Amino acid sequence: MYAEEHEMNKKIVTGTLVVGLVVASLVGTSQIKQHAFASQVHLMPKQTVTERKFPWPYHAMLAIESDADHTDLRKFNIIHEFLNTKSETMLGQGLGLDISDSFFLYNGSNEPRKIDYNGETVKNEMTMFDGISNIPSADAPILLYYIRHGWIDTFHSAGDFSRVNSSTTIFSRELEINALNFLKKQNEVPITVFTDHGNQSNVANFGSYTAFDQYMEGDNPQSKYYITDLLEQEGVRYVWSDHFGDQFSYPSMIYPITLRDGSKMWGFYRFTGTRKVAYEPGLGQVANWDTMWNPADLGEQLDSSRLNALVQSGGYTIIATHLEGNANLFPFNYSTIEALVHLSHMQDHGLILVASTSRLLQYNLMQQGLRDQILYHASTGTTDINITQIIDPVNGDFIPTVSQLHGITFTLKDPSDAMISIHGVPIPDSDIVRSLHTIGIRWYTPDTTNWAITTTSPIYAHLKQEMETLMK
Ligand SMILES: [Zn+2]
Repeated sequence: MYAEEHEMNKKIVTGTLVVGLVVASLVGTSQIKQHAFASQVHLMPKQTVTERKFPWPYHAMLAIESDADHTDLRKFNIIHEFLNTKSETMLGQGLGLDISDSFFLYNGSNEPRKIDYNGETVKNEMTMFDGISNIPSADAPILLYYIRHGWIDTFHSAGDFSRVNSSTTIFSRELEINALNFLKKQNEVPITVFTDHGNQSNVANFGSYTAFDQYMEGDNPQSKYYITDLLEQEGVRYVWSDHFGDQFSYPSMIYPITLRDGSKMWGFYRFTGTRKVAYEPGLGQVANWDTMWNPADLGEQLDSSRLNALVQSGGYTIIATHLEGNANLFPFNYSTIEALVHLSHMQDHGLILVASTSRLLQYNLMQQGLRDQILYHASTGTTDINITQIIDPVNGDFIPTVSQLHGITFTLKDPSDAMISIHGVPIPDSDIVRSLHTIGIRWYTPDTTNWAITTTSPIYAHLKQEMETLMK
């Protein structure tokens, strides 16, 4: 993954294509591509190639993006055993879905709220460090393990810094420096997604510039709460900047944001609930938000009419929720479980591909920015779909690696004599998948391993030891 980061910044160099007989013109992905040399027409198979929006056979892509508020290990494990594995769990037969989660680095909150049925409060929230100290918490080896195995892929702000008095903060830039150094020493895969959190005490938030968001200092280089330079070094590429959203399906989830330090980052949308615009005396038009990001509302967010409309429109969606946000013995209610089972059936039926947030966003970036040229090797009759570059107005255009292109798919009449190349280098057939009329780069292999562990699991002592060794 570190190698890929390097690739992200690589600029385009013009290379020479080594092919037998080359016929090509560079065209946009939205255009239909059809090429033929007048003199060679009789030799060539007529192959029209178009980029498919999603991997075959899916019509839409969906991520469930969970904010880490009120998480403890008990709830986290119950929920992810149910969502990600195929095991028998206390919420039912595991669904085997690719749903990742977020985490807090620090616990700087003094809110007195109860977070679990056993009496735990926000003080017991699962975070990487104890309070705001530089001492890893008892859960830290487990969080690192989950990041490594894809159960966690998102920073929830710089930690939980919500104070009862929201005009105060105990956050500092030094805390972010400490945390990111720690992750680097642990050889963690770079975390590419950041979601803003909580009240105005969370001064490291960034990316939104409304009057209410004046408290956000994370991208202000003049501020002692500036962190976006550190996040960019870590590999953060996408931010949800605390904008509510009532649109469910999007042609693209990402939009460029210019930060106050002059750098750019991709913002992304989330579906947080519905909105009614009402007239209130003295205030005029007021938007009343019905936020649905408690897990008890997932059934409503994933209502089958919404999912059907998503399939119809062929779009992306990211559902905002707080999977571990309830304090009940059973963290999901019946309608939530039912909705998730229904969602997994829609994936089984080839309608909606469920992907972790980081994978959906990366796919979205590749899919929308992809440029290619169609080559015909007349001697072999092979159609060569040559991916030339990814247009990326935020990080700069670049030549992608195969591992950045999981799921990229093309429609054509006969894929049996087709191949895909990246900048003239053929992709090995082991990374290629074909259907009757598509050829694509293989999506991620589903991982339904039950990674759930606790501090009493046999592997825990080993993970803790490993973490402590790497800290030195
Ligand atoms: Zn939050």
